[in-house]
Amino acid sequence: MGKYLAKIGLEMHCEVSETNTKVFSAAENSYKDTPNCNVSAVDMAFPGTLPVVNKEAVRLALMASMILKCSQPEYFFFERKNYYYPDLPKGFQTTQETKPIPSGIYGEVEFECNGELKKVRVNNLHLEEDAASLDHYYSTSNIDYNRAGVPLLELVTEPDIHSADEAVAFLEHMRSVYQYAGISEADSKKGQIRCDVNISLMDASLDESDPNNWGTRAEIKNVNSFGGVRDAINYEIVRQSEILDNGGAVEQETRRWDEESGTTIYMRSKVDAIDYKYFVEPNIPKFKISQEWLDEIRASIPELAMDRKKKYIEQYGLSEYDAGVIVKEKCVSDYFEECLKLNMNAKTAANWLTVQIIAYINKYEIELKDFYLTPVLLNQIITELDKGTISSKQAKEIFFKSLEENKEPKTFITKDNAQISDEGVLNDIISNILANNENQVNEYKSGKTNLFDYFVGQVMKETRGKANPNIVKEILKGKLDN
Ligand code: ADP
Ligand code: MG
Repeated sequence: MGKYLAKIGLEMHCEVSETNTKVFSAAENSYKDTPNCNVSAVDMAFPGTLPVVNKEAVRLALMASMILKCSQPEYFFFERKNYYYPDLPKGFQTTQETKPIPSGIYGEVEFECNGELKKVRVNNLHLEEDAASLDHYYSTSNIDYNRAGVPLLELVTEPDIHSADEAVAFLEHMRSVYQYAGISEADSKKGQIRCDVNISLMDASLDESDPNNWGTRAEIKNVNSFGGVRDAINYEIVRQSEILDNGGAVEQETRRWDEESGTTIYMRSKVDAIDYKYFVEPNIPKFKISQEWLDEIRASIPELAMDRKKKYIEQYGLSEYDAGVIVKEKCVSDYFEECLKLNMNAKTAANWLTVQIIAYINKYEIELKDFYLTPVLLNQIITELDKGTISSKQAKEIFFKSLEENKEPKTFITKDNAQISDEGVLNDIISNILANNENQVNEYKSGKTNLFDYFVGQVMKETRGKANPNIVKEILKGKLDN
């Protein structure tokens, strides 16, 4: 880097999609249904309604805090963040401000970025409710209260991130954590992940561990895609460097990422920051988190991407690269786990998954769960390939044929196209060929070794391409080189 070091802190909001109901009401947690059909009187703040805390949402929030190496509080309570906006019928958001989940002790996230291990400290993690979603049109706005009250986890990092690449790697890592832990689908296309990006530049020659050396930050609100986070950071680095280069000062302000123009736009200065007048939510009694429950939650943390990656490399002999590709998306790794359960050759299965299957589903834009060749069906191909009944070329043909016709691979594996791997049969064929090509055999033996391919070709011709080439080569070597 040049003379400036970027300091970036993220506020990552992730909807907890894996609860049945909302965080304080019994309405269904599924806002993608017909708008405004998953709404209860509590979500609409009708007079006399009272919130009831969703235990599963608390459980998942505590689990997330454990994975992030945060400490867990002895008591849990919520607070009101007061402001008026149409997406918030109550006039306040129920959140956790003064006592978020880690009580005092920093958490830490370790993740990989371009092959390097990075660490980001967690400032806090808290559980709150999402607001309704608003769509603005030319002269009207639509509002969908299905999203009001959906549980939301907010993760706030220390400004330990230094580049757009690192920010995106961190977000990808966290998405994977949420998915593997069964907390959320964490799909930014569905609006489940939204970020605020805080960014400042400091003199790169100073000590970054001293906050007095940090620059003034701008906060970019509501960046809804990882690509947006990348572009917003790169844009801000240029904008702030230019200000500093010209001897100016960066203002502490809130800005908005504008996808269309690819720029950040001034919204408001921090000076006129809103006073949310936080106070403890009186309608939700403070409750104690028992040690037994915490132990139970800790014991139930599922295997995460990093664990699976390690297992694939150490127990199944996959390359670092292949293991990385497989664990990147949970659905891909789940598919691979199924393959392992079926006792498929791990390397072969990994190869088919990372080369053929991922390319196919990307090309046709289908989800892996809708992919016709389930692990059981893929196994029909791989078993025959392993036995040598079919060649790898045939395996590929069968793969595409069964996808084209939606027919099980075994319907295409017939005696007719089966590869010849029987050594006895091949031995006889090869002996005949060598006997009929005496001149070539003599030339070969006197040093014209490039005739080897000629003999292989003769066997292929004789068997109409069905001989297993590896076995043919072995037998030929045995006969010619002795
Ligand atoms: P606020 O409530 O005003 O947004 P916080 O103290 O909660 O302020 O900080 C929000 C985010 O800003 C955190 O992610 C934090 O790491 C980050 N942050 C704080 N100071 C800086 C800075 N100088 N440069 C970049 N990010 C910063
Ligand atoms: Mg903030």
